[in-house]
Amino acid sequence: MEKSCTDNQGVKGFTLVEIMIVIAIIGMIVAIAIPGFMRAREVSRATTCQENLIKIEGAVDSYALENDLTDGSVISGGWTTLVSKTLYLKQTPKCKAGGNYVRAFTVGIAPSCTYTSPGWFNTRGNLYKHIIIEHY
Ligand SMILES: [Zn+2]
Repeated sequence: MEKSCTDNQGVKGFTLVEIMIVIAIIGMIVAIAIPGFMRAREVSRATTCQENLIKIEGAVDSYALENDLTDGSVISGGWTTLVSKTLYLKQTPKCKAGGNYVRAFTVGIAPSCTYTSPGWFNTRGNLYKHIIIEHY
């Protein structure tokens, strides 16, 4: 008797238990990887925000130096002055995490961001904050 293509009695397939074990292993790998991806995204956001804050502070300091402004003076015109007129900043900085920059135009005061990182986000015991450390 000739074997037909649909006759697969001699071929051994996967059992239900084997398939379930594979699915369980994939599930465990995903469960381990997802928090890492979320942390990487949050680190990226916080880093971008801090870079923006440093640029803002540098632009305000440059403007203050050229215009003889003292600590506590506020730059009139805000972003318009820093971006379009004087080109201290190439473009208005945007927080990737959705926060807004506050105290950005006061000379001598470090700007900060309104975004607060989620409670689970913690790197080596230090909570990442969207502010720059005072270095005066
Ligand atoms: Zn921010």
